[in-house]
Order: sequence, then C-alpha cells, then structure tokens
Amino acid sequence: MNAISLNARASSNFEEKLAHTRNLLQQAAQEFARDPGATRPALTLACSLGAEDMVLAHLVNTLALDIDIFVLETGKLHAQTLQLLSQLQATSRAPVHIYAPVPQAAQAFVEREGEDAMYKSIVLRKSCCQVRKMEPLERALAGKKAWITGLRREQSGARADVPFVDRSDALRAKLNPLSDWTWGDVWHFIASNDIAYNPLHDAFFPSIGCEPCTRAVAAGEDFRAGRWWWESSDTKECGLHVKPQLGESAPVAASAQTNLREGQVKDSSESGRSHDEAAKDCGPHARRVIPIAEVA
Ligand code: SF4
Repeated sequence: MNAISLNARASSNFEEKLAHTRNLLQQAAQEFARDPGATRPALTLACSLGAEDMVLAHLVNTLALDIDIFVLETGKLHAQTLQLLSQLQATSRAPVHIYAPVPQAAQAFVEREGEDAMYKSIVLRKSCCQVRKMEPLERALAGKKAWITGLRREQSGARADVPFVDRSDALRAKLNPLSDWTWGDVWHFIASNDIAYNPLHDAFFPSIGCEPCTRAVAAGEDFRAGRWWWESSDTKECGLHVKPQLGESAPVAASAQTNLREGQVKDSSESGRSHDEAAKDCGPHARRVIPIAEVA
C-alpha cells in the first residue's frame, strides 16, 4: 500500500473546502499584489515539499497566481526530498527559490558543536534550526507582504486553532488555506490531480523535515511523532511555530468584510511563546485570534 491508498478519503464537504481554499488564494493574490516595478511577487508559498505543500504548489500553479515558492534547503534534507525539489523546479510555473544556510555559519556550527549536535541538547538543536532554517527563512520572507503555509488544524494539538488568515505578525500576514483540510482530503486531492509527492510518505513519514530529525511513525502514533522524537513533548519547538500563552491576549472581534467561509484572523497584539506539546514545530507562528477570515 502507498500513501494514497492508505489515506485518500475525502471529507463529505471536501468540494466546499476546496472552493474556499481556491477563493482564499485568489483573494490573497489580489490583496497582497506586488507593488508596481517590483521584481518579485509580494506573496510567497513556503514549501517544505511535504504533501500539503505540494497541494498548495499545484493550486498556485493551476490558478496562475502571482505567487512565488520558496524552499528552505537546510543541507540536511533526505535524498527523496531533494529529488522532489528538482522535479518541482522543473515543472512549476511559479518560480521556485531555494534558501540555504550561510555556508560559513553552518560550517562553524558543525565544527564547534558536531554533526550530531541536535541530539545533545535542546539548546543545540534549536541553534541548528536557527542556522539552517530560521535565518534562511528571514531572507526568504524579506520584502514579502504575506506568506502561505500548509498548516492544518488536524496536524497536532498546537495547530488545533490554526486560522485561515493570521495577522499576528505586524510585518506580514500568514495564510493557511488548508487549515480545515483533513489528511484524507490532502491525499484525495493528490490522487485526483496526480500530484507528485515525496516517496517518504509511502514509508510512513507523514511529516517530513531534516533527515537527522525525522523518523517514520508507527500505527497509532501522533502525526508529528516522528519529528525530534528523542525530545520530551514539552520542548519540541524551534521557532517556526510558536503560539501565545493562554490569557496573554484576548480575542479581538472583527467585522466581516468578506463572504469567506468560517475562519479566523490573527493580529500583532500577542507576543507570548509556548513550549508546550502544542509547540512541536519549527517556524515563526505567533498569533491573535479573530473569528473571521478577511483576505480581501
Ligand atoms: S530539523 Fe534538525 S537538522 Fe534540521 S535544522 Fe533543525 S536541528 Fe538541524
């Protein structure tokens, strides 16, 4: 069995979800249009080459939106992931930009802490993520008005309230168009559209990161159990995904500006960070929650 035969099960309201996702992307491309004379789009897709991001890359390309794609090539990706990256570069209508760590910084870190530093302590693991992910991410997002991710609420407890639109970062909005998709929806769409995907998914890697920090999961294990599996569940965070602590900021009401279906918008009023189990992530995602999606 492969990942498609194992997982492709569309929700009963999948077509409604898909229409909402397409609508959100189209409206976002209008709201976050590039300025006159700009050489690159102002809206970008963060592509990890996982299943969700391949779905989004397909939608960006088929909708012919003015959105580019970036990949963080950490220098620690699986060979299968690099092969899929080459395939995406060769077939994508949208430009695919690769951001790698600063070579001197990566080399200095390895010489100082060792190739296996990530296993020695959480501090060193996060330092590795800082050099190989966070710093390149800053460059990838420089000058962007908004970015798109494949976060889904179903992926983990930390993501249970992922909004469609997150405005918690004053610098740029973050869009999560697959927020309400199930894993079955993702694979149904991949199968229906013959989208290329990482063969590691066929080997029980639902969430794929760097090779030293990702393993296959067993039946019944959490979706992200294979990420930094040696760490205790309350420390699995490296900066790409953070969330405010409870009570730190009250939800703020917003007026409905669009006819987008249910969703949540977040703004910049929160600054907290959580390192609980929910934060088993590795990217900057801080947020305030507003019960409405307002892309346009
Ligand atoms: S996921 Fe692992 S190898 Fe990749 S940057 Fe973080 S610590 Fe380093």
